[in-house]
Formats: sequence, structure tokens, C-alpha cells
Amino acid sequence: MNLHEHQAKGLFSKIGIPVPIGRVATTVDEALVIAQDIGLPVVIKAQVLTGGRGKAGGVKVARTWDEVREYAGKILGMMIKDLIVHKVLVDPAANIAQEIYLAVAMDRQAGRPVLISSSEGGVEIEQVAHDKPEAIIREYIDPQLGLHDYQTRNVASAINLPRAHWRAFGDIARNLYRCYVENDATLTEINPLVITNEGQMVALDGKMVIDDNALYRHKDIAAMRDLTAEDEAETRAREAGIAYVKLNGQIGCMVNGAGLAMTTMDMTKLYGGADGIGPANFLDIGGGAQADKVAAALRIILSDSNVRSVLINIFGGITRADEVARGMIQAYNEVKPDVPIIIRLAGTNADEGREIINDAQIPYLFGAATLTEAAQKAVQAAKGALA
Ligand code: GDP
Ligand code: MN
Repeated sequence: MNLHEHQAKGLFSKIGIPVPIGRVATTVDEALVIAQDIGLPVVIKAQVLTGGRGKAGGVKVARTWDEVREYAGKILGMMIKDLIVHKVLVDPAANIAQEIYLAVAMDRQAGRPVLISSSEGGVEIEQVAHDKPEAIIREYIDPQLGLHDYQTRNVASAINLPRAHWRAFGDIARNLYRCYVENDATLTEINPLVITNEGQMVALDGKMVIDDNALYRHKDIAAMRDLTAEDEAETRAREAGIAYVKLNGQIGCMVNGAGLAMTTMDMTKLYGGADGIGPANFLDIGGGAQADKVAAALRIILSDSNVRSVLINIFGGITRADEVARGMIQAYNEVKPDVPIIIRLAGTNADEGREIINDAQIPYLFGAATLTEAAQKAVQAAKGALA
């Protein structure tokens, strides 16, 4: 789960990281009231769950009341990368002397968290990482030992931070790591962490990603979920207990088990990749799926207008393949899809399952004996070439 900037900065502040103290507005009038409380100049910032707001015109410093009105009016309702801006954060504006990048992220390969920093923070950080990878400093953190003072000093030195700021930098880095651990985050990021003209270090932006599997023990954070800012299909999937991630391909995939789902996606790419065809989604319906869950999954897959065919790959274990087949036919009759569906059943009661599918004689529902055959048929169907 991604947090909005104002939510992340709220958690930063609670843990002792200095942030500008602003508030969120949903109308121009509210923005004006907040700006009057804070005093000019203020910075008006789109609250959408994506980066690159600055470059898209979603972050503006307002120096007059007219500018507050103008910028709040422009940013509210603006589209940034397919997301509508419903809220703006109004913060006291900072006088920036330097922008630093600072983050704690999970490094899966290293199997531990890593502190990442650069003296060249700000909106061009991706470009810096690409053109000047040596300007990005990494310090791995042993989860048993935590983040040591010598490590934050190493980083401060490596990014050429003036000595006067080392203590503040160390405190912020340690608190950012605490914020990461205590909230079960997979990322806590400050970009930019600025040194102001007055010599203070302040987190002007905040990003946090929380591990969904840990949300049950962070009720306060789970309650921060902003449904208006999420993909609708992913929200419905979560509510149905289905793991779903939308992708950009044409073959909708319905699979039981995450590993098998990945394999299925790879197979569509193997046979379709040369023609630009691939998976439209990751979807794991989980074990013991009943007909209503199969129907929900089918609806979610078909809500994506890019989908040209559906590949269902079920390996019967505790879930019996004949039950899935019955569920499929029920789902088919409920959803009435208008794209070809290829279904491959294996494992417990697979023969019975296949018989049920064949007996139903549903047009555009094709059986396949192996995953290879199923993937090839799904690619053919996506190309409109399956009769
Ligand atoms: P992002 O583009 O989505 O990462 O949004 P940020 O919050 O990082 O803002 C983008 C850029 O706007 C920052 O890198 C700063 O250069 C600038 N900015 C943000 N807040 C302030 C501020 O208070 N004062 C000034 N002068 N610039 C700011
Ligand atoms: Mn930023």
C-alpha cells in the first residue's frame, strides 16, 4: 500500500523527522484558509499516488494570495499520470540551498534493508541514477544490529555533506530507518531532503510503501487507504480476496497459486512475445476457490478493455478440478464474456473437469491438455486467429 505525501510526512513527523507543518485542502477556499494560517509564501502540492508531480506542474510555490487561488485552482482537478488530483497539501515554503536524496528500501537480492543517499536529490534523481550511478551511495543495514552511527557518517562523507550537518543527517537517517521498521514499510523515502538557507535540514517530500501482508497489525495505517486514488479493479480484487495486478498485455490470466501464475504469464510471453502479445494481469484466485470467486475473477479480468483472450490454468490439489469446471461454467453464464477463453485443468479430478467443460458445449470456451497448448491457443485467440 502506498501512502500519500501528507500521510508519510505525518508518520515522519511523529518519529522525529523535521517536516514542514501544513494541512490538506480539497477546495480553493480551504487552501486559502490554510495559507492564511501559515503565512506566505506557501507551496501547493498535488496529493496523488505517483512521483513526478513537480515536473507535471503539480507542485507550485505561491508568493501572493492571487497565486494561492490560481495554483490551488489549477492543481485541484488536474490529471497526473491518469490520476485526478482531489486534494492538495498546503505547506510553508522552504528556501532551498541543497536537495538531497535519502531512502531506506528493501534490497531483496541482499536480503536486507539498504540506506540510499545522493547529494543530487530532487526531481532528476532517476536521471542521476542512470547517468551517474556513482553519485548514489548505498549502505546495507544488518537487521539484527540496526543502523550504526559510523554508517550514517560514511554516507554523509560519501555524499560530501558539510560536517555541520552530519549530526542532523544521522538523526534523520536513523529515524527514517525506525519509521521503516516500526511501520513494516518496504520503502521510506525523502526526496528532497533539503538544507535550507537558514541551515536547517527538512524533509520536503515523503513517500512510504507499506507491506500489505503487515497491514493487519497497523490498523491506523490501513485506515489511511485512499480508495479514490486506487485502481478500481485492484480494489475489487482485494475485497474478493484475489491477488491481482494489472499489466499491459492482451491475455487475461486466471490461475491458482502465485508460482503457477508467474509461469503462466511467462508462457504467454514465450509464445506471444514476438508479436507483442503478453499477459494482461497477474491473478491468483488462491486455494479452494468456489464458483462465486471464479466469477469475480472473470469479471475483474474482463473489466480490462485490452483483454483479447482469457487463459485459465488450474492445478487441482485440495481444490478439485471438477469443482472449478462447474464454477467456470456458472461464472461463464453469469458474466457472458465475449472473448475466447482457454482452460487447462490438471491434477485432482482433471478428467472429470474436462468432461464437464466439453459437455457444456459453450462457444468460445476451449479446453487444452497442457500449459503449452493452452498458452499457444491463448496467443492465437488474442490475435483473433482461433476458430
Ligand atoms: P515530486 O516531483 O512528486 O517528487 O514532488 P516534490 O515534493 O519532491 O517537489 C518537487 C520539487 O519542487 C522539489 O524537488 C523542489 O525543488 C520543489 N519544491 C517542493 N517544495 C518546495 C518548497 O517548499 N520551496 C521551494 N522553493 N521549492 C519546493
Ligand atoms: Mn519528490
